[in-house]
Amino acid sequence: MRSFVADGVPVAGFSGQVEGFFWLAGQGGYGIQTAPALSRYAACLALGQAIPQDILDQGLEPQSLAPERLGA
Ligand SMILES: Cc1cc2nc3c(=O)[nH]c(=O)nc-3n(C[C@H](O)[C@H](O)[C@H](O)COP(=O)(O)OP(=O)(O)OC[C@H]3O[C@@H](n4cnc5c(N)ncnc54)[C@H](O)[C@@H]3O)c2cc1C
Repeated sequence: MRSFVADGVPVAGFSGQVEGFFWLAGQGGYGIQTAPALSRYAACLALGQAIPQDILDQGLEPQSLAPERLGA
């Protein structure tokens, strides 16, 4: 259950290659402890809603989780 992508950062967002496919993967060894915030973040992206300000206030840069960074 420890899945990683090349840069070790989770992937959350719509695929740039397959329309309507939403990535939420690569949580590594910390998927349980990140689940509350990562699931809220992913749900907002999937529903086309604004990213919660309290998550952005923690310094999250959405591009750092975007599938495009991996060409996915
Ligand atoms: C030994 C160990 C210890 C860990 N300890 C911690 C910890 O202390 N803290 C922490 O935050 N994280 C920990 N982790 C990591 C955490 O478990 C993962 O990051 C997290 O489970 C990832 O969640 P997920 O929903 O992406 O994937 P998973 O939890 O792997 O869930 C994927 C689900 O999809 C199902 N599935 C697969 N294929 C299909 C299919 N074709 N159709 C339908 N269903 C399918 C699987 O059966 C599974 O239930 C640990 C992991 C391991 C292995």
